[in-house]
Amino acid sequence: MKKQVHSRDVRTAALKRLDERGVMIEDIAEVVYLMQAPYNVGLKMDACVESVYAVLEKREVQHAILVGTELDIMAEKRMMSEPLQSIVEMDEGLFGCDETLALGSVFGYGSIAVTTFGHLDKQKIGIIKRLDTKRGNGVHTFLDDLVASIAASASSRMAHRLRDEEEAERERQLNTQHNNKQAE
Ligand code: MG
Repeated sequence: MKKQVHSRDVRTAALKRLDERGVMIEDIAEVVYLMQAPYNVGLKMDACVESVYAVLEKREVQHAILVGTELDIMAEKRMMSEPLQSIVEMDEGLFGCDETLALGSVFGYGSIAVTTFGHLDKQKIGIIKRLDTKRGNGVHTFLDDLVASIAASASSRMAHRLRDEEEAERERQLNTQHNNKQAE
């Protein structure tokens, strides 16, 4: 039986791959910031970076990164058989497997992640736009969708966290009021 691949190796490989393919964590965090700022007054970039890292801890996300970028690299090296080589290389709009792979890894973050992913797929912003318009300069057919999915998951995670924090704060205030009343 083959030895199991250690999670730590998968995580390291996925993070290294993003870096090698020209995607910085801050680039993804910038997209998260743009998505969440309208709903989150005082949102800090640090919180977006932290959320992106948290999403990148998920094994499913790491696997999707490794599969998608591997296919991009194979297409760059012209290692695929036709017609797939041409389809991936030209980022054929009706291909859809790039979106499907990326979409698969956002489900763990609920419906906000799914709808945000759909939005980012249409309104390519920040790094997603840069990757999409980088044609002729490497193949990023899978990478742009992967980045959109990471950003979408990180945004959804933040939205849910924000609500949790608001509710915790409200409860704290109610408890304080209650305790003050009893002390009177
Ligand atoms: Mg694509």
